[in-house]
Amino acid sequence: TKHFPVRARGRAALTRAPRVVHAVDDVTLTLRRGRVTALVGESGSGKSTVARLLAQLYPRTGGDIRLDGTSTAVKGGRAFKAYAKRVQMIFQDPFASLNPVHTVRYHLTRALKIHGKNADGASLEELLGRVQLTPAELYLDKYPHELSGGQRQRVSIARALAADPEALLADEPVSMLDVSIRLGVLNLLRDLKERLDLAVLYITHDIASARYFADETLVMYAGRMVEGGDSETVTQSPAHPYTQLLVESAPNPERLSAVGDEDDDEDGGEPPSLIEPPSGCRFHPRCPHAMPVCGERVPERVELTDAPGHWAACWLYAEKTEKTEKTEKTAQ
Ligand code: SF4
Ligand code: MG
Repeated sequence: TKHFPVRARGRAALTRAPRVVHAVDDVTLTLRRGRVTALVGESGSGKSTVARLLAQLYPRTGGDIRLDGTSTAVKGGRAFKAYAKRVQMIFQDPFASLNPVHTVRYHLTRALKIHGKNADGASLEELLGRVQLTPAELYLDKYPHELSGGQRQRVSIARALAADPEALLADEPVSMLDVSIRLGVLNLLRDLKERLDLAVLYITHDIASARYFADETLVMYAGRMVEGGDSETVTQSPAHPYTQLLVESAPNPERLSAVGDEDDDEDGGEPPSLIEPPSGCRFHPRCPHAMPVCGERVPERVELTDAPGHWAACWLYAEKTEKTEKTEKTAQ
């Protein structure tokens, strides 16, 4: 869970109670080695915040992050370094995440040294080989602006791999890249997952790319997780009305080269304010199936029977008795 305080200005600061943005509420997920997990949602759904929480770049408001079952309470710099060695993050804009005044050699050497690794020529070559930038001599002495967007993102990935991590958190890793090179970078990530047995979290607003690229797909709406399961099931037979809307408005999967186009509001709906999020199911103001209980109570995860591991947090799937009982309770 992550809540950000909102600072009121001027008179409002004196008269209004302090407010918070409910960016992420009660999100639970498990990453496994050798598996790509997609976290899908529109802008402002909290998916990038989840990645930053998992990278421990933000302190969390509540909850826990466990590595191999061991709770991680990262406070000091040393503990953070040990955690970052195992869990690395790749950002959306490789241009912003690489320092323009330094060469590829500098970036990779520094990353290897930070993680106590040998930074000789062979190690640099091996790192670039892992991201298919070969021969290394072609790239090592280039500055970020001398590389294409795809090459820059590959350098960022190589830098993350310098730590020999177990998990990669990739926040919209291809959405800033030219359409023609997106698939190449996604294929590289999938390849690395297999060869290095990595756990990959793939954050995207494009559910079509999740189907293509991820083993498991999780869907977020307004700071909460609403559906999850294997990618095939979630994208082919979505259960939650919000996922259904995402799938309907997704670009044609045949046009895979267009993965990740910035087109968030195609369905015409507006994501709600997370300062005062809607009560109950946060999707209820937009949901074509909303019932009275939906605005009253937060739906819990319900295991669905169509495929193992498929679940949705939606009152449509809750036990009938429970639904009636809860409606009656709130009506009293
Ligand atoms: Fe729609 Fe209700 Fe399900 Fe929310 S809980 S998605 S409002 S039917
Ligand atoms: Mg984002």
